[in-house]
Amino acid sequence: MADPLPTQRTQGCDGIDDGVVSEDDGIQESKIWGRLLSINKHFPSVNLIDNEYSLGRGKKCSIVLESKEIQASKYYLTYSSTHFKIIRDTIKNYVYIQDLSSNGTYVNGEKIGKNKRHILNNNAEIALASKTHRVYVYIDTNATEDSTVPLNVREKYIISKEIGRGAYGEVKLCFIRGTCDRFAMKIIAKKHFTVMGAHAHTFNQQIQSECSILRGLDHPCIIRVYDVYDTSDAVYIVLELVEGGELFDRIVANGQFDEITSKFLFRQMCLGVKYLHDHSITHRDLKPENVLLTSPDTNETLIKITDFGLSRFINETTLMKTFCGTPNYLAPEVLSTRGEASYTNKVDIWSLGVILYICLVGYPPFSESISGTPLNDQIIKGLYTFPDEFWSEVSESAKDLIRKMMCVDPTKRLTINDVLEHPWLVDDHDNTTRVDKIMHPSKVISTPPTITSVKRPACDDDTPLSEPCTKPTDEKPTESNYSSGRPKRVKH
Ligand code: ADP
Repeated sequence: MADPLPTQRTQGCDGIDDGVVSEDDGIQESKIWGRLLSINKHFPSVNLIDNEYSLGRGKKCSIVLESKEIQASKYYLTYSSTHFKIIRDTIKNYVYIQDLSSNGTYVNGEKIGKNKRHILNNNAEIALASKTHRVYVYIDTNATEDSTVPLNVREKYIISKEIGRGAYGEVKLCFIRGTCDRFAMKIIAKKHFTVMGAHAHTFNQQIQSECSILRGLDHPCIIRVYDVYDTSDAVYIVLELVEGGELFDRIVANGQFDEITSKFLFRQMCLGVKYLHDHSITHRDLKPENVLLTSPDTNETLIKITDFGLSRFINETTLMKTFCGTPNYLAPEVLSTRGEASYTNKVDIWSLGVILYICLVGYPPFSESISGTPLNDQIIKGLYTFPDEFWSEVSESAKDLIRKMMCVDPTKRLTINDVLEHPWLVDDHDNTTRVDKIMHPSKVISTPPTITSVKRPACDDDTPLSEPCTKPTDEKPTESNYSSGRPKRVKH
């Protein structure tokens, strides 16, 4: 298995200055009853051995918040000299956290209250001064580990709380032992694949070869796959952790994006897809749910395409379930052959066209409610329009690009290189520079980008999400997949 590369560095799990604990030191390891694993890169991870710990700005605390980075943060002055204590009651056999702060300590989003206590359970999330300023996950080392997870996985990773749930399983936060770098672990149960008997062997080989391809991919707009464990029951995929949520939710929160923001995100998606196509990988399931964002600020975020390649070995079930769900992003040639014919990477271009359409206006190109034509027929025949009511502000160039991407005949549809050469993208140098900068932050770029867009409110946890736009219209879809003109999550 390849060694994961660090994503966020934290101080090692190997302990803090006092009472340095080494993971390799079996004697010390056995004394660890809990861990505070940092989910904020400036906070040190701590192995808990003593029965009492305090955290705060005061020098007498066992965990002193004094690093340069912490002092520079906007939160620093909101920390109390002793913000909280963690106490292990060895008689009653429980662990609790006591809030001693002026601005509050939160456990799983709930404020404890000054001088009050809260029992700490495994995977509890601790936040300081604001419920969104999460800094630690508490791990109870005596909590029964999930024995369904293979030992070699548990030996390498501390598997923590669930951070998402998808069609084929769950996604958990995990920490690599030793460094406490954070990752997302996607656990896919094989029962979903329905491959039995003689085919199972080939299928498992296919997974292995697929996973080795995925592990070799390295592009800023493609989620990194660091490690894969394949067992008879499940596949465990260790992924780069991406914390800004899905593009889907961002579109819903914003209603739609202006052209500048759409182009900023879209160029990144295209560069990610180009990288996949250059490596002979067709994504097949591009949709806003499979585009993750690294930052709450949409105008500053890097996008990460996820779930690529997996569809190769979950192909049949995925497609069949897609047919039962919404086919909104499926190319006409996939739909007309019910996924049974072979098709090319042009299916991704169609899906990208649909995503761009949705980004620009906040509703999808196809919908039961539009013309009385069944949804599948609309897609197969390419029946979509650009009603002035919603599209008058959007440039002709953007519409031209969408038309050429959402062209029913795949042989006439643009390739990903053609898309990147389309004037809507190639003529916008500011956008190219911005995207370059976000993808390669360490590269010195001579001309600073001029960002002319009006910044939307950041979709930060601290900021209430804006109401999605709900424009009244006859043309605007109202059917169930897109109620209130909003895209509906496509989960199989
Ligand atoms: P599906 O299988 O339906 O495509 P996933 O299993 O990929 O869904 O993801 C389920 C949820 O887990 C997503 O909505 C996302 O919020 C979260 N998630 C997936 N991958 C990551 C990741 N790498 N980092 C952070 N969260 C993730």
